[in-house]
Amino acid sequence: MPRTAGRHFLQIPGPTNVPDRVLRAIDMPTMDHRGPDFAPLGKAVLEGMKRVFKTSSHVVIYPASGTGAWEAALANTLSPGDAVLMYETGHFATLWQKMALKLGLRPEFISGDWRTGADPQAIESRLREDSAKTIKAVCVVHNETSTGVVSRIAEVRKAMDAAKHPALLMVDTISSLASLDYRHDEWGVDVTVGGSQKGLMLPPGLSFNAVSAKALAASKDAKLPRSFWDWHEMIASNKDGYFPYTPATNLLYGLREALAMLLDEEGLDNVFARHQRHGEATRRAARAWGLEVLAKNPAEYSGSLTAVLMPAGHDADRLRKVILENFDMSLGTGLSKLAGKVFRIGHLGDFNDLTLMGTLAGCEMGLQLAGVPMKKEGVQAAMDYLASCHASPARAAA
Ligand SMILES: *Cc1c(COP(=O)(O)O)cnc(C)c1O
Repeated sequence: MPRTAGRHFLQIPGPTNVPDRVLRAIDMPTMDHRGPDFAPLGKAVLEGMKRVFKTSSHVVIYPASGTGAWEAALANTLSPGDAVLMYETGHFATLWQKMALKLGLRPEFISGDWRTGADPQAIESRLREDSAKTIKAVCVVHNETSTGVVSRIAEVRKAMDAAKHPALLMVDTISSLASLDYRHDEWGVDVTVGGSQKGLMLPPGLSFNAVSAKALAASKDAKLPRSFWDWHEMIASNKDGYFPYTPATNLLYGLREALAMLLDEEGLDNVFARHQRHGEATRRAARAWGLEVLAKNPAEYSGSLTAVLMPAGHDADRLRKVILENFDMSLGTGLSKLAGKVFRIGHLGDFNDLTLMGTLAGCEMGLQLAGVPMKKEGVQAAMDYLASCHASPARAAA
């Protein structure tokens, strides 16, 4: 294969592009994770992650992909045979449900259409029926990465409170953490699951649980077997900045750098606004091409990725292949029942207006080369929108 000049465009919705600064921070000699230099690093990343989750409670960091943190959330809080209410938002919600089955839980899956988020009303009515309170947890994926649909977690919380149901609320934020507004404490979430390789701009290999006092209390009676994932030994060692087993030390250097960028230099509110802007610009491009966005409800649009439906008779994976071969850009594939039907544009992580324009230009040229019927107006629509976001208020009003 001849060399391709320039940077590869990695526009899948995770893993995302890792900033050079973060790569350089990782490029350090391996340290003694039990030595005196480690504790300040351990404490700094644990404190920083609390600010990202918006919690004053515990955050646990695992050397694992997000799937590990899913398992940790369930294994720490539940007992064999426990009923859990899960919501079918798409592929990732389905995988979490399958995991619950394998762990010996009894997941009840509220079915969904893969185009809308978890319906708080449906959750409320199911919980109201559960007068014996057999349901021990409600599990929802915040940003369903297979569809680009966001579930309204604050409303799910309200629905649970309205039903006066004591179940734990567990939320997967693997593709929304540090990209979309999220508030663990304020929204009354008991376990939030996160991962490193999406909004946090790190390579894969770290994952997280934010744990409420109620979840921690539940873990004392929970009977599912756990050892590697056990919160208690983690939290006990973390108190002094250490870990019970070897943490992914070099990734933690990277995490410290990413946290400085997100929390101190750009600020989370600006990070969220940037992702919203790029989501809106992408949807405008898709519509101007004459293509349909998979997400149905404007209140559930994702700022971290957009899934775009292909016209009937055109295969999304062929389009992705054309784009990869001609423009060295990777786009997300359609997962399970969406295979071939959608392509997903990731616009999360270390990403700016011009990276988005390069991405959309690659899509527009690819659609043309693949012979997909469309209007060559998407790039222009996105540029017009982005430019309008930067216009001074006076000029925008004029
Ligand atoms: C990526 C992702 C996962 C899986 O995480 P891994 O790091 O691949 O284990 C789970 N849930 C959501 C919403 C995701 O985006």
